[in-house]
Amino acid sequence: MEKLQQLYEGKAKKVYATEDPGLLIVSYKDDATAFNGVKRGTISGKGVINNRMSNRLMAKLEKAGIPTHFVRELSDRDTLVKKVEIVPLEVIVRNLSAGSFSKRYGVEEGICFEEPTVEFSYKNDDLGDPLINTDSALALGLATRKELAVIRAYALAVNLELSAFWEKCGVTLVDFKLEFGRLPDGTVILADEISPDTCRLWDTETGKKLDKDRFRRDLGGVEDAYQEVMQRLEAHDEA
Ligand code: ADP
Ligand code: UDP
Repeated sequence: MEKLQQLYEGKAKKVYATEDPGLLIVSYKDDATAFNGVKRGTISGKGVINNRMSNRLMAKLEKAGIPTHFVRELSDRDTLVKKVEIVPLEVIVRNLSAGSFSKRYGVEEGICFEEPTVEFSYKNDDLGDPLINTDSALALGLATRKELAVIRAYALAVNLELSAFWEKCGVTLVDFKLEFGRLPDGTVILADEISPDTCRLWDTETGKKLDKDRFRRDLGGVEDAYQEVMQRLEAHDEA
């Protein structure tokens, strides 16, 4: 399957059409942005790691019965996916306090929750992806009540699978962001990516951050952290 015209260039990926109208090729870049594009940089080798990691994790989720857009890895940076109409919500699941949760509610990072939280942000760069509740998402027609229920259930199922897997790797899944989309028949599936760009991953022993917070917060060792977490995954992924 070959790339035809470029349909979109985002902050982290390019999206191409293919000869099959139901399929796209996503191509992962090394570009990194934070704070809604205000901070920009390059994380050398990130695209290769995020491509591979996202595909391995999505394949695992498929096995567990969660439908995803993943079709086939084409190369280091390129993957064939099912084309969806993206539901304009960032679905964030949290197991421990961190990031904007800690800031919003004035609590330290690293508080372990009794139950995971699911929150939605309206995916809209001009507005800075504001937090949104289900009533407002319904009012704006972003998704139906049924779709929101399915998305919430899938998000929690993804959390169960991935938390257990990362635990085996000695990594704590602190929080993560998912995106979902609709196939032409209306079926909701998991899309976009799951990577250190979209998850907070802490070494369980030492608490060392192995994710994009090293870039956001200028902690150094960004490339090494991405490589380390990928190596941990490969060492524990039986697939
Ligand atoms: P952004 O748009 O936030 O800068 P990216 O650089 O990751 O993000 O661009 C990838 C774009 O492709 C995103 O807008 C994402 O919602 C979209 N996307 C991801 N998976 C699919 C898919 N299977 N079908 C259609 N669009 C997708
Ligand atoms: N996240 C993401 N894209 C976004 C916002 C958040 O992938 O546009 C991820 C982020 O990497 C973290 C989780 O979602 O794993 C929760 O992020 P948070 O709301 O704490 O926001 P941040 O601190 O990143 O601003």
